[in-house]
Amino acid sequence: MTGGSGFLGSRLCERLFELGAAEVVCVDDLSTSAPDAHTRLAHRDGYHFVEHDIADPLPAPWRNAPFDTVFHLASPASPVDYLRMPTATLRTGSQGTTVALDVAQRCGARFVLASTSEVYGDPLEHPQREQYWGNVNPIGPRSVYDEAKRYAEALTFAYRRERGVSIGVARIFNTYGPRMRADDGRAVPTFCRQALLGEPITVAGDGSQTRSLCYVDDTVDGLIALSHGDFPGPVNIGNPEELTVLRIAELIRDLAGSDSPIEFVPAATDDPRQRCPDVTVARDRLGWSSTIDYARGLAATVEWFRSALEAAPAANARTTVDTGSR
Ligand code: NAD
Ligand code: UDP
Repeated sequence: MTGGSGFLGSRLCERLFELGAAEVVCVDDLSTSAPDAHTRLAHRDGYHFVEHDIADPLPAPWRNAPFDTVFHLASPASPVDYLRMPTATLRTGSQGTTVALDVAQRCGARFVLASTSEVYGDPLEHPQREQYWGNVNPIGPRSVYDEAKRYAEALTFAYRRERGVSIGVARIFNTYGPRMRADDGRAVPTFCRQALLGEPITVAGDGSQTRSLCYVDDTVDGLIALSHGDFPGPVNIGNPEELTVLRIAELIRDLAGSDSPIEFVPAATDDPRQRCPDVTVARDRLGWSSTIDYARGLAATVEWFRSALEAAPAANARTTVDTGSR
C-alpha cells in the first residue's frame, strides 16, 4: 500500500488485518501523514513499514517481492498540502503511479487507484456520474492535484489496455473521520479543532458550496470491495447526502457543544461549488454503499478530536487556515 501512513491508508491497513491479511507492506514518505501514523501498527505481525518516495523505484528487498494487491493511495490530499507542494504532487501522481503500476504488472497483482471526485473539477453536471468528463481548470492552483489524478487514471487505464493489468479506479469523495491531522486544513478537522478550542469557525465564501462527506470506515470498505473481482471502474465511492459547508460547520459546532462564531473568509480559487456522487455504479457493481450517517460519523469524529486535543493541546493548536484563496 502506497500512502499507507496517511489518514485513509492507515485505516485501510488496519482493516485488511481485521479481514485476515497476513502481510501488509506500507510504503510512505511521511510527507503528509500524522506524526504517529507509521508506528501505530509497528507491533503487528506481518506489518512492514518502508519509508520511501513512491516516485522512485522500490528499494531492496521489496523491489522483487511478490504482492497480490497494490493499493495506490500516496498523494497529498488536502488542498493546503497540495498547494504547499505543487510539483511533488504532480510527480507523485505521475511518476509515483508509474512505479506502483509497474509493481502490479510485475506481480500480476490487482491495482487499486485512489482517485478523487476532483477529476470532475467544478462540475457542471449534478450529481456526478462516472460518465461525466469534468470541468477542470488545467493551470489553476488546484490543477496540480486534479490533473495529477486525471493523469493517474489515464495511465492506469493504459496499463490495463496495453499490458493487461487488472485495475480498479475509485473516485473517492470527501472522506472524514478520526485521525485526520488537526492541521491538515480540510474542512472537517479544521472545524472540529476550532469548535473545540472555542475559536471562530472559518467558513470559506458564503458557505453555500456543497460537499458530500463519507465516513472513513465506509470509504475503506468501498476500496476493499473494489479490490475483489475485476471491475475496472471508475466508480464513485461516497455518501450521496449533500450538505452546504455552512451546515457542516453548524453541525460540528453543535456536536462540540461550542459557541464559536462563524467567520466568513475568502473562498479558495476554483473551489467546486457543488459535489455529490451518483453511487449507482458502486451499488450495482460492488454491492457497496455508505452506511454511517452524519449524526454518527461526525459525533465520533468530534469526540476523537476532543480526546486528541486534550492529550496534546499544543500540537493541535494551529489557528490560521489557508484555504488557497488568491
Ligand atoms: P493523507 O495526506 O492523509 O495520506 C496520503 C499519504 O501519502 C501520506 O501518508 C503521505 O505521507 C503519503 N505520500 C504522499 N506523497 C508520497 C510519495 N511521493 N511517496 C510515498 N508516500 C507519499 O491523505 P488521505 O486523505 O489519506 O488520502 C489518501 C488518498 O486518497 C490520496 O491519494 C487522496 O488523493 C485520495 N483521496 C482522499 C480523499 C479524502 O477525502 N480523504 C478524497 C479523495 C481522494
Ligand atoms: N473550507 C472552509 N473552511 C476551512 C476549510 C475548508 O470553508 O477552514 C471549505 C473549502 O473552501 C471547500 C470545503 O470546505 O469549499 C471543503 O474543503 P476541503 O478542503 O475539506 O476539501 P475539498 O473538497 O476542497 O478538497
